[in-house]
Amino acid sequence: MRIIAIGAHLDDIELACGGTLAKAIGGGAAVKMVVLSKSGYTYHDGRVMRLDETALEEGRRAAAVLGVDDLIVLDWPAKDIPYHSEVVEPLDELITDFGPDLIFGHWPFDTHQAHQSTSLSTISAARYFNSILLYEPITPSGRSYIAFRPQVYSDITGFIDRKIESLRAHRTEYQKYGERWLEAVRARANHRGFEMGVEFAEAFEVMRLELKV
Ligand SMILES: [Zn+2]
Repeated sequence: MRIIAIGAHLDDIELACGGTLAKAIGGGAAVKMVVLSKSGYTYHDGRVMRLDETALEEGRRAAAVLGVDDLIVLDWPAKDIPYHSEVVEPLDELITDFGPDLIFGHWPFDTHQAHQSTSLSTISAARYFNSILLYEPITPSGRSYIAFRPQVYSDITGFIDRKIESLRAHRTEYQKYGERWLEAVRARANHRGFEMGVEFAEAFEVMRLELKV
């Protein structure tokens, strides 16, 4: 099994499908993470919230916690990743070269403009591939006018601690949101787990899925 997960920022993938990736690696899958920006950003009042170098260091550590050693970080501006052929074509090349059986991408109704454009670029770039799952956004970018529809569930009961640990590696984001951030991630995984009858789960929407029987 070959899985590629694509996110706008360092931490998006861990938040949304980190448990599933760690589980897949445990099961022998090859996993590649592609992040479109170095992820440093300032607040609207000019305060530096995260430096590129810090984000890169945190992101590498977080990926390692999940067991992922194949992490590609591109250099689009964190807040303004365009939905453009300049993004789609390099993504197309990365996806085609890797040859995934399954692709994870942002959900297009996420309220973060860079998550939306990354979602659309992923969908465009993955047009020749048959299985694409869109991962569930979290607050604040998940506070959409559209409801996320959990359609595919992944039991991550044995991997929730690894997921939380990978998020803890994102120290600058942890400083911003605090322990409540991790409590909320765990609580949602618990809620999704309750829905499917296990302890912890991650949920996805189907963009396209090949049924293998
Ligand atoms: Zn993000």
